Amino acid sequence: MGIILIKIMLSFLKKNKIKTAKKKKKEFYGRIGKKLTIGMLFITIIPFGIIGYASYIYTSGILIEDAFHELGHNLDTSANKINIIRGRVNDDLLFLSKTPPIQGIIRAQNGDGVDPLDGSTDTEWKNRLTAIFEGVAYPRDIYLQVRYIDENGQELVRVDSDGDGTVRVPTQLLQNKANRYYFTETMKLGLGELFVSPIDLNREGSPPRIEVPYQPVIRYSTPVFDEITRTPKGMIIINVRVKHFLDDFGTDTQEDKFGDDIGDGFIVDNNGYYILHTDKSREWGSYVDLGTGENIKKDLPEEITSAILSGESGIFEVLEDNHVIAYRPVFLDLADTETFIVIYKFVQRDVILAPILILRNILLWTSFIFVLFVAVFSVIFSLSISRPLVKLTEAVQAISAGDMSVRSSIKSKDELGMLSKAFNKMAENILEARSTLEEKVTSRTEELKKGNKALEKQKYAILNILDDIEKEKRNVLEEKDRINTILHSIGDGVVVLDKEAKVFIVNDTASELSNYKKEEFIGSLYYDVLRFVYEKDGSGRNFFIQDCLRGGNINKLPQYSALMKKDGTLLPVSAIASPLNDMSGKIIGCVIVFRDTEKEREIDKSKSEFVSLASHQLRTPLSTINWYTEMLLAGDAGKINDQQREFLNEIYTGGLRMADLVNALLNVSRLELGTFIVEPELLDITEISKNAIGDLAALLKSKNIKIIENYGEIPKINIDKKLVHIIFQNLLSNAVKYSPNDSTVRISIVKKANGVYIEIADNGIGIPQDQQDNVFTKLFRADNVKESDTTGTGLGLYITKSILDHSGGKISFESTENKGTIFKVSIPLKGMSKKTGERALN
Ligand code: ADP
Repeated sequence: MGIILIKIMLSFLKKNKIKTAKKKKKEFYGRIGKKLTIGMLFITIIPFGIIGYASYIYTSGILIEDAFHELGHNLDTSANKINIIRGRVNDDLLFLSKTPPIQGIIRAQNGDGVDPLDGSTDTEWKNRLTAIFEGVAYPRDIYLQVRYIDENGQELVRVDSDGDGTVRVPTQLLQNKANRYYFTETMKLGLGELFVSPIDLNREGSPPRIEVPYQPVIRYSTPVFDEITRTPKGMIIINVRVKHFLDDFGTDTQEDKFGDDIGDGFIVDNNGYYILHTDKSREWGSYVDLGTGENIKKDLPEEITSAILSGESGIFEVLEDNHVIAYRPVFLDLADTETFIVIYKFVQRDVILAPILILRNILLWTSFIFVLFVAVFSVIFSLSISRPLVKLTEAVQAISAGDMSVRSSIKSKDELGMLSKAFNKMAENILEARSTLEEKVTSRTEELKKGNKALEKQKYAILNILDDIEKEKRNVLEEKDRINTILHSIGDGVVVLDKEAKVFIVNDTASELSNYKKEEFIGSLYYDVLRFVYEKDGSGRNFFIQDCLRGGNINKLPQYSALMKKDGTLLPVSAIASPLNDMSGKIIGCVIVFRDTEKEREIDKSKSEFVSLASHQLRTPLSTINWYTEMLLAGDAGKINDQQREFLNEIYTGGLRMADLVNALLNVSRLELGTFIVEPELLDITEISKNAIGDLAALLKSKNIKIIENYGEIPKINIDKKLVHIIFQNLLSNAVKYSPNDSTVRISIVKKANGVYIEIADNGIGIPQDQQDNVFTKLFRADNVKESDTTGTGLGLYITKSILDHSGGKISFESTENKGTIFKVSIPLKGMSKKTGERALN
């Protein structure tokens, strides 16, 4: 029923929704309202249903039990009626068997019709007994007959009763009952024992016939004995009429709650033959009575009949037929469990369960009313909540659609009312905020428009820049390609290092010269692939790169250096390292350019050889010229005039100068060819200095130049006299030559920790700054001397430096044009190393 109601409610909600489908508010109700309604229905109906169903089950169980109990009790009452009869009859029988007339009759019959004890006749005693029988039978309307039958089966005294009164049966109507089973059975009993017959139909007459109308009876009898002889003397028997009892049970007095009779009553004997049936024709089917054979076994299933006839009490539910059968055995004789009848009731189950049906109906109706009430209440309640919400939603939707004039009209004082108020306030605020917002938006839009224009301009500017960058990028790439092409096509080896001293550019020539592959170069630390060494002893000369990277100096690889190839062989090279600087001047790397100088060396060598040869060949004729000129001047060939002397002097000076030049050239070629000899010996260097000054005496005198000597404590060191002399000679002659007349030249020689230091300073014309780099190169002559002094060869300093380079010494200078020059020479304390060769220098 709950489900039906929910369906009704849902269809109601559905209809409601369809009607107003145009309006969204109903959809909203459809959501919240439906949820609320269904929720409330479920919350109330489900627990109610569960509790109702449980109590229905529990109560109906109790009621069924109660109904069954009632039915059993009803049967017990009926059974008791028979028990009461039996008890009463038992008492009556024992009483009658002991009444004096019985013994009187016995004595009278024994004494030929007269009682010897008191003289009464047999008839008198019989009359007395009859009176007693009448006295007993009269108040008991259920006693059909009370009889005294003698030991031969002959009725001696008999009183019949029709229920209203008693009738003495006259002697001539008395019958012999010797052939009846109750007679034979009773005669077997002892004193005080009771025989109870099954219920059967009373029979009368001879031959006996079933009395009509049927008189169902139970016979209760007990034997009597002669008090003196103790011999059996017949029996007292009471036929008890049970018709009343049967009729009572059949029609029954019990009624159900509605006043109807409860079911039909049946009685069967212990063999199942009907004693009482709703269809009278089916009664008394036993062979003892009508012999029709009508039996309970014909009508009920075996399991039920065997239960009913088992002698036990019980209740059977036959659910298929919707029946209940309640049964009770009634034992007619307490001493005999075999002889009993069964009373049972055949009742419609619905009749028994009537109270349960009533209960069910009450519960159903209560449920129906309750659910109806809850449903109506749910709808009203959900509407009361959802309607204001719908209104509020409408207002919200209207506002969100742009209609800011709409306000919520909910006036209730609950939370919804407060919500509505807050909503209206919010709408006001939005309206207000919107107008300020609009103003702001307008002004902001203006600003944005302006900003947009500026941005547009910027955009084009950026696009232009990007375009430029793109072009620049292309240029850079092209430039890079070009540089790469140049780099790779130049004949010099080029290696570029980053500031971490790693190679990041290398050209083909560098790779070819070093025998390292380009891939081996790239990313390697430069000293792993580039090993510049001193040709002579293989000592490392990478310092010029290191210094370039650290100090940012442009450094040349010193002379006589070689590159050690991958296979360990040496390649004579010249190299220069230049720093790479960024815009701010910071060192970001170093470029090393190197060149194979092997061929140059060879050319130089052949040049030097030629110069050596030519100089050598020139010396002899030159000496001859000078010698003969000297002789002519000395007048060995006769007197010469002044003009001739002048001319000869010119020849002689030129010859000497040429001899100097040839000498110098010879020295240069010997130095370059390495054929010169170094023969160190322990010498006082100041002596050599003094000798060299002495050689210049003429020149000093002519220019009036004074030499100031300053010698410290100088130990003797291993030096080649000739070579050191050449050094002093060159430096001192230069100082004098390039100093003005009447000036001073200072020479100092001091010993320091690691060598002997020589300084020769003048106040002469100096060397122009821009030419100082070339001072030690071959044939160098500064611009400021070329015109004034035509005697110089430009080989002196070259020779000096070469000597020092080959012997472990060093030379440097400081010079300022028109102020003076200082040449500084150092020779290690260990002196010069010995060198064998072909010729000494001159
Ligand atoms: P030279 O025979 O020309 O002197 P050197 O090799 O001795 O040849 O010197 C080379 C050049 O160096 C000179 O020509 C001169 O220009 C310059 N020079 C050398 N020494 C001095 C000095 N003391 N003062 C000025 N210039 C000098």
